[in-house]
Amino acid sequence: MKINRISPRRQLIQFSLLVLLFLIPFLRSGDAPFLQLNIGLRTLFLFGTALRVDELFLLLLFTIVVMLLFFLITTLLGRIWCGWLCPQTVVNDLGDALSSWMAKPFAQPIARRLSEHLASALLSVLLSAALLGWFMLPAEVLQVFVHPGENLLPFSITVGTALFLYLDLVFVKREFCRSYCPYGRFQTVLLDEGTLNLAFRQEVQDRCINCRSCIRACPMGIDIRQGFQIECINCGRCIDACRDVMERRGAGDGLFAYRFGATAGNRPRLGQKTAILALALVIAVLTLAWNLNERSVSTFTLQRSSTAVVRQLPDGSYVQPWKSIIGNRGQATASFSLTVVSPPGAIVQLLGPVTDIRIAPNQNQAIDFYLKLSGPSGKSTPRLEFRLLKDGTQAATQTVAP
Ligand code: SF4
Ligand code: SF4
Repeated sequence: MKINRISPRRQLIQFSLLVLLFLIPFLRSGDAPFLQLNIGLRTLFLFGTALRVDELFLLLLFTIVVMLLFFLITTLLGRIWCGWLCPQTVVNDLGDALSSWMAKPFAQPIARRLSEHLASALLSVLLSAALLGWFMLPAEVLQVFVHPGENLLPFSITVGTALFLYLDLVFVKREFCRSYCPYGRFQTVLLDEGTLNLAFRQEVQDRCINCRSCIRACPMGIDIRQGFQIECINCGRCIDACRDVMERRGAGDGLFAYRFGATAGNRPRLGQKTAILALALVIAVLTLAWNLNERSVSTFTLQRSSTAVVRQLPDGSYVQPWKSIIGNRGQATASFSLTVVSPPGAIVQLLGPVTDIRIAPNQNQAIDFYLKLSGPSGKSTPRLEFRLLKDGTQAATQTVAP
């Protein structure tokens, strides 16, 4: 392997991404999956933290962090995302490599074409099965394939995904990047003065022998010698192709190079857009981290029953009907209790099933109970502090007017 070639580095990164695709469904952080959007539990597991469906604002924050990271990568590295990391590119590169390996023993065009179809079909099935692991536990994925009849929905989604991937690999390929990908178009507004791009080196252009190797190697079919083109995905294949040509001729280095900015230079430069995006990303990451740290593993709402009247008992005390909804966001069934703090001058009691309320993970439970107010201040009791205990430990509080 020639050490100054780009393609082996790109392939290594793409291979690592594929390994992660298959590996991440098996990774765990404590008792929870490391990264998984579990549809059955309606929960996003983010680095081991379970975000329930009622915490969608955290999912929104996470999405903002990911988007800002994409934008920052683009202002720094241009379309490196498209040429090195985008799933469409990675899958197509892998499909090309597998097809040409499977077609190698055959000379007839029809046999080679059939090998390409077979490689695409195999890859599509494997990838769609791996993707399912991002939405279900690995043991559940196995059950989908062992008992498809009992798991019709996930099985049909997997078949549909495989078919979609197969059609993409055989018929769409890089036409999607060239003509349809909206992110490719959007990227042009993110480029700034220090963005990495692929340059036809002005200082050595006169050494070009017009062999067209760079054009033949380009997956987008463009001639980058004509200058910057939006179709270029910074994959670096033309760099390698020209280096091969120049080495064979003993004519020195190739005529293309990656460059940060329009002028010669090989160090990243901090443009204005990059600085603004980096700052926004830091703020978004800190906000997400703070919210994840502060989030409660239990939810708790309190509501006075509006239809029922307050009743006075013969001993002079008052009773009010209340309702509470308690949610368990933890990973295991837990026992919850409700208590209330009696303010000075009043005696407050909770009557009803307010202790040892057992709630399964990711479930909510409604509790009806009575609030009994007595003592000298009676009905004019000031605001009350309710406490929710989870397995004997205070999990949340709420202060409400009786
Ligand atoms: S591969 Fe190099 S020498 Fe050949 S056409 Fe392209 S730039 Fe010119
Ligand atoms: S011009 Fe070069 S870097 Fe751009 S897409 Fe074509 S081969 Fe890749």
